[in-house]
Amino acid sequence: MFFIFEITPKCDFDCIYCYNVWKEKTDYQQKILNVEQIKQLFFKLMQETEIEGITISGGEPLLYENLFEVIDFLNQHNIKIGLTTHGTLLNKSKIRKLIKLGVSYFEISLDALNPEIYHKLTNDNQLDKVKQAILNIKKYNTKLTVSTILSKLNIDEIPKIIDLCFAMSVDYISLNRFITGGKGKINKNLLKPSIQELKEILNIANQKADKYNANINISVPVEDCIISHTNYKNLKFGTCMCGRKKWLIDSVGNLRTCEQNINIIGNIFNQNFNTLKNSKQPTEFRQNNLKNNCTTCNFFYNCGGACRFVN
Ligand code: SF4
Ligand code: SF4
Repeated sequence: MFFIFEITPKCDFDCIYCYNVWKEKTDYQQKILNVEQIKQLFFKLMQETEIEGITISGGEPLLYENLFEVIDFLNQHNIKIGLTTHGTLLNKSKIRKLIKLGVSYFEISLDALNPEIYHKLTNDNQLDKVKQAILNIKKYNTKLTVSTILSKLNIDEIPKIIDLCFAMSVDYISLNRFITGGKGKINKNLLKPSIQELKEILNIANQKADKYNANINISVPVEDCIISHTNYKNLKFGTCMCGRKKWLIDSVGNLRTCEQNINIIGNIFNQNFNTLKNSKQPTEFRQNNLKNNCTTCNFFYNCGGACRFVN
């Protein structure tokens, strides 16, 4: 099983597309666990299921005070650890320490190279620090994904970002279709690209992937019936893993199907993971949010019914 762990809801950015559930449901609990509680949480989970990997996210995970100790603990239990960050808090010595303690892959957000557009999207202006963090991670030859939101505001930036990633030897580029959740809900009109715009940008990404032999993932699953995946042979399309191999744990140990799903299935501290996993809620969520004919569709394997939160 793979888990995303929202170690803290705290973040010093204020991205206008942020899908974190507490940006939409402001009364969502925003407490955090201390290190001992996190160890107990994952120790219990390890007894109940095989944990193949954990991606630590947030909020901004580097704002969790004892992050190093958590990583050290997970690494001692042979769990593959990834870190998702906006990148501005990563200096050389932190990167070295994180890698030494067991982080084997990083995911950094880079939504624009034009400082004005970057600022519009993130409300931050430390773009140079992000680029520097990318360079520093690659110096240690550690796996790195650069992830970019696919929105109306930064469409012209995508080809430039792909070029830069190639020049910086980034391993994977993840293009994330805008999702109408979290803060994105308020900013939908400003951000949501049309299907035609999506097709155009996928076309360019497809050509770049071919030219550079680059790994470009379309991470938020796209409906194969609306945008045919076969037209973009050099891109790798994701499928919805909703409550199957990948799960989400929030900052107090609640289990949800995924980042976008606000509904809590239960809490890992007081319920068995397998009971929660096999409970009615995730099964119903998977079945009830499909497009009209997904269950009989020949492409189901390709998109898994696509992301339930794109609307
Ligand atoms: S599985 Fe559903 S969303 Fe995916 S291609 Fe088929 S009908 Fe479309
Ligand atoms: S609904 Fe599926 S594709 Fe969308 S975020 Fe959840 S797991 Fe991912």
